[in-house]
Formats: sequence, structure tokens, C-alpha cells
Amino acid sequence: MIQVFGGKIADNEPVINIQSDGGIVEVTTRKGRYKARSLIITAGAWAPKLLKHIGLDLPLWVSLAYRIPYFRD
Ligand SMILES: Cc1cc2nc3c(=O)[nH]c(=O)nc-3n(C[C@H](O)[C@H](O)[C@H](O)COP(=O)(O)OP(=O)(O)OC[C@H]3O[C@@H](n4cnc5c(N)ncnc54)[C@H](O)[C@@H]3O)c2cc1C
Repeated sequence: MIQVFGGKIADNEPVINIQSDGGIVEVTTRKGRYKARSLIITAGAWAPKLLKHIGLDLPLWVSLAYRIPYFRD
């Protein structure tokens, strides 16, 4: 869907920094930098770690609720 609107998927490119001057957001990855007027972060359980350095302390944490065993022959 994002590609229909001109977006680009940058796979296998971890985000290492996010900065904002209020108007423009700059995202730095291991491969480059991107600028945008707005940003949607979908890092799931990793979001608090990613956002901590910009002063956002999300009330989100990972807990182990269940275990899934895998068996091999
Ligand atoms: C074993 C297991 C079974 C589950 N079964 C079910 C189920 O049956 N039904 C159900 O509804 N839910 C299930 N869940 C829960 C479900 O997987 C999560 O609720 C859902 O995946 C959360 O989606 P999300 O998009 O918020 O985060 P995620 O799916 O965790 O996606 C976050 C993405 O961000 C990426 N990311 C993180 N940091 C960075 C970074 N710095 N730069 C770039 N990318 C980054 C990660 O690689 C990941 O791809 C299960 C979870 C587990 C672990």
C-alpha cells in the first residue's frame, strides 16, 4: 500500500537515530538518512529503546507470558 502512494520500503536497514527540529524529522539508518514531515514508528517492543534517547519514555515493556516449545524429529 505504501508503494502505491510513492513510498519506498527500505528492508534490512535498522534505524539507529531519530531527530526532530519540530518541523522535519530525520531518521538515520545503518545505510543512510531520510527526512520527512512526519513519522510513524512501528518498532513494537523495541520502540522504548529507540525513542529513549529523544526523551520519550514509553510505558511499554516486554514480559514473558508463555513459552512455545518446538520439537525436532
Ligand atoms: C511467539 C509469538 C506468538 C504470537 N502469536 C500471536 C497470535 O497468534 N495472535 C496475535 O494476535 N498476536 C500474536 N503475537 C503477538 C504479535 O506478534 C504482536 O502483538 C505483533 O507482532 C505486534 O506488532 P507490531 O507491528 O507492533 O510489532 P512487531 O511485529 O514486533 O514489529 C516491530 C518491527 O520493528 C522492527 N524494528 C525494531 N527495532 C528496529 C529498528 N531500530 N530499526 C528498524 N526496524 C526495527 C522489528 O524488527 C520488527 O520487524 C505473538 C507473539 C509471539 C512472540
